[in-house]
Amino acid sequence: MSVLPAAAGLDQLPGAFAPRLIAWQRQHGRHGLPWQHTRDPYRVWLSEVMLQQTQVSTVLTYFDRFLHRFPDVQSLADAPADAVMSLWAGLGYYSRARNLHRCAQVVVKDHGGVFPSTAAQLQNLPGIGASTAAAIAAFCHGERVSIVDGNVRRVLARLLAFDQDLAQVASQRELWALAQGLLPQSPTPADMSAYTQGLMDLGATVCRRSQPLCERCPVQSLCQARASGAVTQFPVKSSRVKRRSESWWLLMLQSPSPAQGGMDFWLERRPAPGIWAGLFCPPVLRSEAELQQRVPAQAWQAAQHLPAVAHSLTHRELRLHPVVVCVDRSLVADFLAPGEWVTPDELATLGLPAPVRSLYQQLAS
Ligand code: SF4
Repeated sequence: MSVLPAAAGLDQLPGAFAPRLIAWQRQHGRHGLPWQHTRDPYRVWLSEVMLQQTQVSTVLTYFDRFLHRFPDVQSLADAPADAVMSLWAGLGYYSRARNLHRCAQVVVKDHGGVFPSTAAQLQNLPGIGASTAAAIAAFCHGERVSIVDGNVRRVLARLLAFDQDLAQVASQRELWALAQGLLPQSPTPADMSAYTQGLMDLGATVCRRSQPLCERCPVQSLCQARASGAVTQFPVKSSRVKRRSESWWLLMLQSPSPAQGGMDFWLERRPAPGIWAGLFCPPVLRSEAELQQRVPAQAWQAAQHLPAVAHSLTHRELRLHPVVVCVDRSLVADFLAPGEWVTPDELATLGLPAPVRSLYQQLAS
């Protein structure tokens, strides 16, 4: 049986944690990400919003494309909502894109295009929560305030062997107060930047959800969970999200294109609020029978059923059943809700949910 080293007492943590984390980040942390080494709140904000619930490797492409199209808050505020949604398509959690757009408009209209400088003020903006506000304030203005995103909660819950249920808002607040107590004493802006990045890096690369790399951890001798041999029991979270399963039947109508010679596709805009709100999608029906009722009998005979696709959302497990039907476009208005025919070129520029886009790509290949 391995014998774990005793951890330093909790009273030693406030003085010891931050210096070790900062030194580790400077030597071993991540330094090449495109949103680092900047004090531009626009870039930090954009990266923080994109990184919520999304892997760094996925965000990298989106971040560059987004910045290329919208290099500053003014250009984002001026953009049509469709252009923003289209660039966001595939990143998921689309309310983030709507809030991003709204926030840019508020920054331009109410703050003269300049983000407020403190975490407290930043939290008043649409879509900016405590952790994003703290990241902007710490990275751009050196404010002494702690981020508390999911990765950081995991690190701190283990470090402190914090056994309160983090599904509860009161416990999250308590952990945040403890996080504030671990901040570096009298930090320079560069220290705050390294500390904040260090928390993120430690959570992403060392103190991972499963199989944490404790032997490489700069704070292992301070870690209460490691000393107790119960690392994976932290964080405590009672109500894990339970996903509901749903079947969606996608009516992928196509019709010979009078303009381009190929096929045009019928798309509707998804209603808001709801799943994929504001994005373009083929009509969604809840059963095959319901879908069949929407299609003229003659066209149904030639319908092509594509293989079902599984797609996970935060609260749902969707099973998508795509059915391709070729129709005479003059009939469509009679049996469908408002929508429009789009050419393959137009399709490429519209905001489509990622699984829907890949279905159309399959059709085209
Ligand atoms: Fe996480 Fe292990 Fe480091 Fe503790 S010692 S903070 S559990 S990586």
